[in-house]
Amino acid sequence: TSPRPFNFSAGPATLPEEVLQQAAAEMLDWRGSGMGVMEMSHRGKEFTSIAEQAEADLRTLLAIPSHFKVLFMQGGAIAENAIIPMNLSRGGVVDHVITGSWSQKSAKEARKYCTAKLAASNEADHHTTLPAHGSWQLSDDATYVHVCSNETIHGVEMHALPDLAALGSTAPLVIDCSSHIASRPIDWSRVGLAYAGAQKNIGPSGLTLVIVREDLIGHALPDTPSAFDYQVVADNGSMYNTPPTYAWYIAGLVFQWALKQREVTPQGELTGLAAIEARNIAKAQLLYDYIDGSGYYTNKVAKDCRSRMNIPFFLPDDSLNAAFLASTQGAGLLQLKGHKSVGGMRASIYNAMPLAGVQALVDHMKQFAASHG
Ligand code: PMP
Repeated sequence: TSPRPFNFSAGPATLPEEVLQQAAAEMLDWRGSGMGVMEMSHRGKEFTSIAEQAEADLRTLLAIPSHFKVLFMQGGAIAENAIIPMNLSRGGVVDHVITGSWSQKSAKEARKYCTAKLAASNEADHHTTLPAHGSWQLSDDATYVHVCSNETIHGVEMHALPDLAALGSTAPLVIDCSSHIASRPIDWSRVGLAYAGAQKNIGPSGLTLVIVREDLIGHALPDTPSAFDYQVVADNGSMYNTPPTYAWYIAGLVFQWALKQREVTPQGELTGLAAIEARNIAKAQLLYDYIDGSGYYTNKVAKDCRSRMNIPFFLPDDSLNAAFLASTQGAGLLQLKGHKSVGGMRASIYNAMPLAGVQALVDHMKQFAASHG
């Protein structure tokens, strides 16, 4: 069989081929049960074992402390933009830091449920920088502070999470980490709640992970739908309503794949998340170094906050975009069109994108630049 093309979609996104192969092999009969995973009761012993293993593997992979609950929910990160204020805001004040389209959307939605204040924004820089921590205007009475730690559309990533305590705030930090979860470690000492749609680094869409400090649960607004009340979800092991079982299963396979990863580096052999992070650093560096040195392509994001996962780039002239996209498509390099709000191109290089895929893209970009210079 010929190799699959490299898929640079921002999400739903490329998955590890081994995971897809395993899912295919288990499609009709999951491990002698006589059933495919899609056909199983979520309360049966087979799916229960799949669900528990997936949570245990995620906890190992991300080193999640035991005082955090892991919730397997539905609705995507966009639904969480409402579910979080319903559960955490108590109808009071919350602080939002705007760094791009996704954090902007979160703030707008939160306003329906509480007083969402603007703590800082990079809008004046067209979302190509991060507002310095010292400039954040945090409210004394905020019930949480919301950030998007990787802006999928603008390609801006927080390489360190803010230490709110050091900024004089006692509020918990809420992070939308949809597009870089499991690409690097999370400093849980700085986090109250982390949420992520699955469809970038974790699996199919339809599953949303919420990893939340136990003491933040149990304060939902009275009108919160039961299925979205973290207390109800947690008390029922994420099975108050039928969870997205197949997506949960695929996520479990991805976690096992992630734990098995190995990467030999000058510092020695790394495994699991450390191996994945080292590979992601190498992949991003390869592409940014090429773009910056090309004299042809450009990336406009400040160097200290460039995303390792989502890399927007521009050709010298927009009139070349169509030819570029046709040529990449022909070369087996898929879904490189940039988001309409930013324009140009975007290469999303999530965990499942191998270094060889980024190398193939760079090689192609060189050829294109040489023939369209
Ligand atoms: N936040 C971020 C950072 C995202 O990248 C996305 C999806 N691209 C969302 C939120 C929205 O996710 P969903 O459409 O699954 O609700």
